[in-house]
Amino acid sequence: MLADWFARSAVAAAQVLEGFDEDRFRTHLEDTVVGISAATVTQEGDALLDMLVRLAARLYPRLAIVVRGEPGEQLADLARTINPQLELTDSAELGVVVGDGEPFAKSTFAGCDGWDALVGTGGPLPTGDSANPFGAGAAACLAGAAVFRRVFLPDWSEPHEDDLRFSVLTSERLHASGPTAALPEKLAGEAVLVGAGAIGHGALWALRRVPVAGRVHVVDPERLELSNMQRYVLSERADEDAVKVELATRTPARLALEPYQGELAAFLAAHGYAWPSMLLALDSARDRVSAQASLPQWVANAWTQPGDLGVASHSCFGGDGACVGCMYLPDGAVKNEDQLVAEALGIPHLLMQVRVLLYTGRAVERDLLQAVAQAIGRPLDVLLPFEGRTIRDLYVEGFCGGQVLPLGEVGKLATEAQDMHVPLAHQSALAGVLLGAALIRCTIEGVPEITQVTRIDVMRPLGPHVTQPLRARRDGRCICDDHDFYAAYAAKYGRVGDA
Ligand SMILES: [Zn+2]
Repeated sequence: MLADWFARSAVAAAQVLEGFDEDRFRTHLEDTVVGISAATVTQEGDALLDMLVRLAARLYPRLAIVVRGEPGEQLADLARTINPQLELTDSAELGVVVGDGEPFAKSTFAGCDGWDALVGTGGPLPTGDSANPFGAGAAACLAGAAVFRRVFLPDWSEPHEDDLRFSVLTSERLHASGPTAALPEKLAGEAVLVGAGAIGHGALWALRRVPVAGRVHVVDPERLELSNMQRYVLSERADEDAVKVELATRTPARLALEPYQGELAAFLAAHGYAWPSMLLALDSARDRVSAQASLPQWVANAWTQPGDLGVASHSCFGGDGACVGCMYLPDGAVKNEDQLVAEALGIPHLLMQVRVLLYTGRAVERDLLQAVAQAIGRPLDVLLPFEGRTIRDLYVEGFCGGQVLPLGEVGKLATEAQDMHVPLAHQSALAGVLLGAALIRCTIEGVPEITQVTRIDVMRPLGPHVTQPLRARRDGRCICDDHDFYAAYAAKYGRVGDA
């Protein structure tokens, strides 16, 4: 059976599938059995299979796990704890073959080689036997994306191309074995992961597997909601209402993972403001920029948004490279939240009222619902469940969540609101794996000379170049143009440019 959080998956799918139709999406899911097969399970193969099951069990109602013996039983148990309503069957038409597993009629082959992810349709791909989880994690996400395209884009014929090799170390696709680097023994200093949401889960999935010593503080104020399970890879069905940071750090790891339930500002007030590394796995531009404004020595920022997912590993603050603030400067094209909500609800003429309701969190009254109903041409009945609730609830659940407007229309609307974007599990998990890798890479190579930005659109096969340098704009509008910020950074860590 479909998981309890199906509605959330439908919202996510509506944002990536053109001409989305909820009934067709449901039928497609119910008709599909996705297979996962493996024979010899190496250490990296084990990581790949683990991530693959964590992704597939949250979306597809039927899986065929064709892995013999104890590894197979463990994967089946994992799948059932994620979705107890999941049906496990013996065979599938279509699926992911890990290493030397049994092929399906339509196979996506996945393998890994240390930092490198291997995915293709040509034939079996090997899995390495190292403790490096990054190639494996990325391969699982890319294979998950390939299966999603095969299931939901029936007209899409996957271009027949050579097997993909993607290096998580360089964040580029390669044509042969790529550069390699041994994992460090320990982190250069303590790190802070801000956000234990979907991207944070992807990062921690990898970081809790690396045999690297050190300490990572995980900061998030929230508890897990049912709708989060659609894409939080470390969550299981029984985790509803768990404190997000406790859930994210519960598995013992070589890295000491320290939960902090609270906002970043409170964490910094309690534990100090000088941090060698900060990883941002946040939803809103405002939170990202305020994290940058706390001036960590090095910062990496990951995101999912309509069109792509990505991670930026930033150079020293105030140097030539873009800071996090540079990437979120309003260009006039981005609307304020109150404008966005008022327009989405069809009541731009009531902007002031919307603004007040957003700020105060006061209950929405019937006259406003009547105005919305009239504007969107729907009966008042569909809006009445939101009487007495907040306008944010009305916008998020009613409009972005599909309760008021049909999902096909919602996709368009939510695309404008990046902060309301609902990604698919493999998108968030891949952004998280890349974010975790950025921390280890920075430990090995030091802070990059210039900010490096990696962008991937998993609705298409990977292009030839996914990573680009990004310079600061230096047009006087960013916090990194501000002398006081620059001086505060230099006072904390020494002259800017000294890593
Ligand atoms: Zn800047």
